[in-house]
Amino acid sequence: MIIGVPKEIKDHEYRVGLVTSSVRELTSLGHHVLIETQAGAGIGLSDADYVKAGAEIISDAKEVFTRSEMIVKVKEPQAGERSLLREGQILFTYLHLAPDFPQTKDLINSKAICIAYETVTDSSGKLPLLAPMSEVAGRMSIQAGAQTLENSHGGRGLLLSGVPGVEPANIVILGGGVVGSNAARIAMGMRANITLLDRNLETLRALDQEFQGKVTLLYSTNEAIDKLVPEADLIIGAVLIPGAAAPKLISAEHVKRMKPGSALVDVAIDQGGCFETSHPTTHTEPTYIVDDVVHYCVANMPGAVARTSAFALNNATLPYVINLANKGYKKALLDDPGFLAGMNVMYGKITCKEVADAFNLHY
Ligand code: NAD
Repeated sequence: MIIGVPKEIKDHEYRVGLVTSSVRELTSLGHHVLIETQAGAGIGLSDADYVKAGAEIISDAKEVFTRSEMIVKVKEPQAGERSLLREGQILFTYLHLAPDFPQTKDLINSKAICIAYETVTDSSGKLPLLAPMSEVAGRMSIQAGAQTLENSHGGRGLLLSGVPGVEPANIVILGGGVVGSNAARIAMGMRANITLLDRNLETLRALDQEFQGKVTLLYSTNEAIDKLVPEADLIIGAVLIPGAAAPKLISAEHVKRMKPGSALVDVAIDQGGCFETSHPTTHTEPTYIVDDVVHYCVANMPGAVARTSAFALNNATLPYVINLANKGYKKALLDDPGFLAGMNVMYGKITCKEVADAFNLHY
């Protein structure tokens, strides 16, 4: 199959659909990979690296789209890219169609076969192509929180670990899923004092096995949160109720009761945020202060560590790309119901119920 990878054109997006190691796997299986020039430059992968992996370098995006049977990307196609898609061409990338009618309309009109990373499921119903970005964001949340607690960022001037003779910081993590458990692992390595809350007892039991008493694990109730808020130096928001807006677990009143210079990192901001005082921020201006509490609410945290994120994403997407290339889309999707769940738009029809419902359309 001819597989094309255009350079990402969304603002500040440095990730790339296929890293060189993925290209090498595909070319060794007999597939032909077209890479737009400089597609990997933002994460240190040169055109020469891609040539070494067996790719052909193409000077413009239009030729990549015209010659490829399948396009592999990271972000949803932008308007100019959508106009280059054609009937029967496979598009495999993050789409996030439900809040985006212009994109949905263009993908319907293109009659392309559009498979979204974010709706692919595995045998236990989890989202294997979203999980790597949650791992990145969870681990990064402690790094972001640590910086936010520094004096120069408006924080109370705390080192998470403390030093011998000075106590460590108190970190509260709301949610113990992929983001929360990864945050806890890093916080533990930093020797902070950690409390993690979740509503799922199975999740708490599994974390109990892993952490062996080094993290305090609590069932998440308003009362538990009320008690923890005044003592917390850093609170990480990592809850998710799939498909719903994040519950507001920390109210504006709670924020008023926090210590001046303490920090909130709302990873769940992409679902509306789980702190009442949160609003989305960017990597250029990641923090703001409400009632002396520093808020970090960046909606695309993995974008700041594009190289790690691109490799993590490829580790998850590569088996699916190989299946599509080896078997063709029909057999690849019919062989795996979880992969089929990734199909969002096909030959002019919406094939994902949630997307159809979002616009009151048939599917
Ligand atoms: P997940 O489903 O793996 O975990 C969510 C956890 O929240 C679950 O364990 C669930 O039981 C728990 N939960 C639900 N309600 C709760 C409550 N009231 N109190 C405590 N826990 C509760 O989800 P995830 O992959 O960890 O993602 C968490 C959030 O982070 C999502 O909103 C996701 O979109 C977001 N995210 C943001 C970024 C970013 O860049 N900002 C990146 C990746 C993920």
